[in-house]
Amino acid sequence: MAKDNHDHDHEHHDHLRESESYYAARTKALESLFREKGLIGTDTVDRVIRFFDHDMGPFNGAKVVARAWTDPAFKQRLLANANAAIAELGLRDGIEGENLKAVECTPSVHHMVSCTLCSCWPWPLLGLPPYWFKDPVFRARVVREPREVLGDFGVELDADTRIEIWDSSAQIRYFVIPNRPAGTEGWDEEKLASIVSTEAMQGLDVVTA
Ligand code: FE
Repeated sequence: MAKDNHDHDHEHHDHLRESESYYAARTKALESLFREKGLIGTDTVDRVIRFFDHDMGPFNGAKVVARAWTDPAFKQRLLANANAAIAELGLRDGIEGENLKAVECTPSVHHMVSCTLCSCWPWPLLGLPPYWFKDPVFRARVVREPREVLGDFGVELDADTRIEIWDSSAQIRYFVIPNRPAGTEGWDEEKLASIVSTEAMQGLDVVTA
């Protein structure tokens, strides 16, 4: 943010920077302590970050959605057995994704996912769970007033669209196939995947072209 014309924000931003540097310093201190004690190697943290940047993130889920949009037979297999279907795309399931379940939005039904108990999330498809998904207020409100929560995310559904909420748990982690937006006819999978947000794959967003 430009320094000169945003004086009113300074207090807030300085505070933010302060807490960011606090957490950064704390993280560095912990990392070097762990290294010193031989609990982690010198490249452990970098390897973990690289893994979530390149191997396990929402780009995986977006690939699955794009394939489901373009290949109806794949979509049927995905709905029947999500773990087997994502393996077809070379994606691994495993920890935090042993039992994935895909649910498909239609023009009349919108699916939303929460973990009301804690923060169970389909890691192999979406990477690390974002802050909002773990927020106790979100988890409590999403089941009581889903439309209002959607509004907070900037989404307004037609009044006659039915909302279904799925409670993810350690046993089953849900994953939403959003509606394919109009105006994307003829797009290839890579272009389609690029418009699918993390939120849309948990029903907190709709995809627009
Ligand atoms: Fe949970």
